[in-house]
Amino acid sequence: MNIFTVIFLLFLLASFAVQYWLSKRQINHVLSHRAEVPEAFKASIALEAHQKAADYTVAKDKLGNFDSVISVIVLLAMTLGGGISIAFNFWQGLGFSPLITGLGAMATVFLVMHLIELPTSIYQTFIIEDRFGFNNSTPKQFITDQLLQLSLMMIIGLPILALILWVMESIGASWWIWAWAILMGFSLLMSWLFPTLIAPLFNKFTPLEDGSLKDKINQLLERCGFQSNGIFIMDGSRRSGHGNAYFTGMGNNKRIVFFDTLVESLADDELEAVLAHELGHFKCKHVIKMLIASAVMSLIGFAVLGWLIEEPWFYSGLGVDEPSKAAALLLFMLVSPVFTVFMQPISSFFQRKFEFEADSFASQHAEAKKLISGLVKLYSENASTLTPDPLYSAFHYSHPPAAIRIEHLESAMQSS
Ligand SMILES: [Zn+2]
Repeated sequence: MNIFTVIFLLFLLASFAVQYWLSKRQINHVLSHRAEVPEAFKASIALEAHQKAADYTVAKDKLGNFDSVISVIVLLAMTLGGGISIAFNFWQGLGFSPLITGLGAMATVFLVMHLIELPTSIYQTFIIEDRFGFNNSTPKQFITDQLLQLSLMMIIGLPILALILWVMESIGASWWIWAWAILMGFSLLMSWLFPTLIAPLFNKFTPLEDGSLKDKINQLLERCGFQSNGIFIMDGSRRSGHGNAYFTGMGNNKRIVFFDTLVESLADDELEAVLAHELGHFKCKHVIKMLIASAVMSLIGFAVLGWLIEEPWFYSGLGVDEPSKAAALLLFMLVSPVFTVFMQPISSFFQRKFEFEADSFASQHAEAKKLISGLVKLYSENASTLTPDPLYSAFHYSHPPAAIRIEHLESAMQSS
C-alpha cells in the first residue's frame, strides 16, 4: 500500500473521530442542561422554548453524524473504491478532447455525490425542520430550488471550471497562479453580482417601506458613515421560519437584507441594534480581512496542487490509475477538507473575535440593551441552544455562545 494512502486514511479516520466525539459531547451537554433554563435567561426564555431548542439541536446533530458517515463512505468509494477512475474511463471512451473529458468526468462525480446527499437534505427539510415548525417549503418549491441550483451550476460553474482546466492544460508550470487569479476574479465578480442577479432568482426582495423603521435605519447608516444601495425585506418565510439579517454585495452594489420573519419578531430598536452589529463587521474591516484570508488560503491550496499534480503517488495513493489535470483538481477538491478540518478551530476563533468587535461597535452606535433583547428573541425563535458544549462550540461555532456574548454586551453597557 502507498504510504500516502495510509496518511490519507489516518487523517480521514482522525477527522471523523474528532467530529463524532465532539458531536456526542454536544448532544450529552445539551441533554444534561435540558431540564432547566440557565439562570441568566430565566426571565426571558420559557422552559418550553428551552427544551424545544435542546431537542432541535440534538436532532440536527444526530442527522449531522449520520451525514458524516455517508460522506466518509462516499469519499472512500470515489477515491480508493475507484469511482473517480470509472467516471474518467467512461468519458475517455466517448472520444472527446482532454478538456471535455475532464469536465464531463468532474461534473459526473459532483452530480452523483449531490444525488447521494439529496435524501439527507430532504429529511432535514421535510422531517426535522417540519417537526420543529420551521419548514415552510413545499415539495414543489424544493424541486424548483434543486433544478435552479443545477442550472446555475451548468451556466456559471461549468464555464469557469472549463477555463481553469484550460489554463492547467495550456500554460505550463506557472498555471496555478493564473488559475488562482481567475478564481479570485470570478468570486469577486460573483459577490458583486449576487444581490441583483442570483439572489432574486430564489427570493423576492421588497424595498423597506418609508416609515419609522426606515428613518431609524437611515439615521444609523448616517451616524456610521455607511453607504448602501438599499434596504430590502426578503421573503425568507417562503421556505423557513428561521430569521436573519445580512449584508450582501460589494462596492457600490451593497444591500442590507432583513428576512421578513426577523422584521416580524423584533421591535424597531432591536432591528436597529442588530443592523449596527452587521455594520460593525464592515467598519472593523472584518469583511476585507476574511476576503484576504480566504485568498491567501486558496493561493496556498493552488501552490500545493501545483506540486501534487506532478507526483504519481498522489494519484495512485488515492485510487486513480491514470493521472490527468482534471483528476488532480477533482482529487484535491474532494480530499483537501480531510486535512484542513483541523484548522477549523482557528478560523472559528477569529470569527468569534470579530463577533465581539462587531458587538462593541453596535453598543457604541445603538443600544446594547436592545441588541441583547433582540439576540434573546433570535435564540428563542430559531431554537438555538443556550447551553452548547464548550469544546464543540470552540471547534465549530462562528458566534460566541449566547451567555458569553451577552455577558460581554452587559459589561460594554456598564463601561459606557
Ligand atoms: Zn456578526
